[in-house]
Amino acid sequence: MNRAPRAELVNGFDFHCHIDLHPDPVALIADCERQRVAVIAVTTTPRAWPQNNEWMHGKSYVYPAIGLHPELVAARYSEVELLEEGIKNCRLVGEIGLDGSPQHQASLEQQRDVLARALTACTEHGGRIATIHSRRAARDTIALIETHVDPARVICILHWFSGSTAEAHRAIDAGCYFSVNASMLDTQGGRNLVRAIPADRLLTETDAPFGRDGLSGGPLNIGLVLPRLASLLDEPASVCWTRIRENGLRAFQFAGISF
Ligand code: MN
Repeated sequence: MNRAPRAELVNGFDFHCHIDLHPDPVALIADCERQRVAVIAVTTTPRAWPQNNEWMHGKSYVYPAIGLHPELVAARYSEVELLEEGIKNCRLVGEIGLDGSPQHQASLEQQRDVLARALTACTEHGGRIATIHSRRAARDTIALIETHVDPARVICILHWFSGSTAEAHRAIDAGCYFSVNASMLDTQGGRNLVRAIPADRLLTETDAPFGRDGLSGGPLNIGLVLPRLASLLDEPASVCWTRIRENGLRAFQFAGISF
């Protein structure tokens, strides 16, 4: 009997979750490997990456990304060079981005500098995936992507995007993908947005431990979003999954990872 190609064995794609904020990262990674859930494990400071890399070393489905979260830029701006250096050696980048919420507005200038430098490094090295936060700063975030990213060299994934549909269209024109989580489908704005995303730019995430489906099982719950996504898009869940799988495999392949 022929073995199925390994790609057939991937059971889900979580393009944005925080494994290192889980109470037992090692056990969670083992569970993702067993259940064959492909995960981009984002980090929030470059100093967290070596530990994540150690946990995930040699794994087939769980991969660490190097990041500097916009909410931490005020306190950790000095780590921007570590981030740029890390991007030389790591093809997955995140969490990076901008946060324009009132409590983070004071650091927006530094946030823009960090994001611009990270995106420039991604474009310079090529074959990078960047998972990008843009809460209350969609327009600025997309403008920086337009300026600093060559979409032939970087796949930018807007994670938990909450900008307007017009902003989403601008991001689509800039080559962006979107990772969608269950919490987005709870709001009318989120549902309208998801309907506006082209079929070949759609990915899934939990943002565990923050998103609704990520609260307890983290990335192991990634399958829960699929039936809801399928019903929103008015298609069978199997069709929706086939598309998410194609997009997921293509994105990982872009960063040199195949399953
Ligand atoms: Mn996150």
